[in-house]
Amino acid sequence: MTATATSELPRGSVIDELEFPNDPDNLYLQTVTTMLGAAELINLKHRSRIILAQPKNEIIVNFPVKMDDGHHKLFKGYRIQHNNCCGPYKGGFRYHQDVHLDDVKSLAFLMTMKCAVVRIPFGGGKGGVQLNPREVSHEELQRITRRYCCAIMDQIGPDVDIPAPDVGTTAEIMAWFADTYMMSSAHQHHDALRVVTGKPLEYGGSAGRLKATGQGVADTLAEMLPGVGIALHGMKVSLLGFGNVNGWAGQILTDMGATIVAVMDHTGAIRNDNGIDCKALYEHNMKTGGIGGFTGDADEIDEEAFYRTPVDVFIPGALEQMIKEQQAEWLDCKLMAEAANAPCDPSGERKLDEKGIEVIPAILANAGGVTVSYFEWVQNKNAVTWSAEQVDRELNRHMVVAAQRTMERRNELKCSLRTAAFATALDHIGDVYKVRGIFP
Ligand code: NAD
Repeated sequence: MTATATSELPRGSVIDELEFPNDPDNLYLQTVTTMLGAAELINLKHRSRIILAQPKNEIIVNFPVKMDDGHHKLFKGYRIQHNNCCGPYKGGFRYHQDVHLDDVKSLAFLMTMKCAVVRIPFGGGKGGVQLNPREVSHEELQRITRRYCCAIMDQIGPDVDIPAPDVGTTAEIMAWFADTYMMSSAHQHHDALRVVTGKPLEYGGSAGRLKATGQGVADTLAEMLPGVGIALHGMKVSLLGFGNVNGWAGQILTDMGATIVAVMDHTGAIRNDNGIDCKALYEHNMKTGGIGGFTGDADEIDEEAFYRTPVDVFIPGALEQMIKEQQAEWLDCKLMAEAANAPCDPSGERKLDEKGIEVIPAILANAGGVTVSYFEWVQNKNAVTWSAEQVDRELNRHMVVAAQRTMERRNELKCSLRTAAFATALDHIGDVYKVRGIFP
């Protein structure tokens, strides 16, 4: 089961019942459709399907911020609380000029599924503010963060809804957010630090959080590669995006014996069939904000050449919906591991199906980040600090079990890995609704 264009969707009872708009490019509808396909296969109860098909709360806020030149600007922010049957809402917030309601709803939905795949006691949420963080000063960024926090602070909390970093937001931004929350009179206790994860190490952050998503991608691949007939040692990999997730995934996979042969980000693309030095590239990226101008051993290539580079595994780790039909047509890989959320649009996904390219879905492949966020929350709650080794060990255990569960479900249901991962998430959520019942 893959996401398909809405015009070809079975206008099943839930889609019709909830009167979804018939928009083929709507990411939220695609996400719901994928869930409903898996729900059908496992006979999930109708009540769980309708509850999951819409978020519990959609919070939209508009708030003014004084800019450096003295004028006031109004910003629009979102916080979507998709589902909390398994625990507090959990999910990052992003700063990006293209943040829109339906996209944030999709990402919140995927968080519910992701937390259930790795069986951590959280539900799903997501937030965002419409802004290009590169176009505001450091001081303005801090004021925007503090006002966004004030605007939503009555609806979140350490046991209610726990934000974290995402695209365009950093550990420093999480520290400003936590500080603002804790300065309000209702939350002036140190335990309130748990209101966000992904904080700096010196202010309640966890060892291993920065590399956690990349580490989780590597752990998942190591577990699943034998099942798809690829040897980790010597496998060739291309990376789309080289930020927090893929910058780390590239370094970790290189240490595990893989060869990173091509990398592309918003500043350019490079290729070296003998392997790109990902540590040097990461340092360059940290200094300059992109891979463009890298002076290490690699040739500059264009977008088409990047996608056409023959590899065993392609890892998209940039933004959503970047792999369209054309990019999928160019791709020359056996397996795609989704480090980014929803990296393929419906036409891209169909082309991958046609070409027989296996896809490890994001709700499994990139669940390492939220898993270590959970470890951070547990450490804060218990006022303890785990070593980096303990974090890595626990993360690996969660990722391996989730990967095994997904492969078992795939064999039982005879479906794609994406449907199998959704099915394992729905198995868990369905069980929780069964024992909790639905109030009243
Ligand atoms: P980031 O901002 O650190 O990096 C984003 C990367 O995408 C950068 O290398 C950027 O150059 C690249 N990019 C942006 N536009 C591009 C374009 N047009 N062409 C090519 N490359 C482009 O973000 P991140 O934290 O690495 O997150 C990447 C993805 O992973 C996002 O989809 C995010 O939601 C998802 N994700 C992140 C985490 C996490 O812990 N950071 C966890 C789960 C999922």
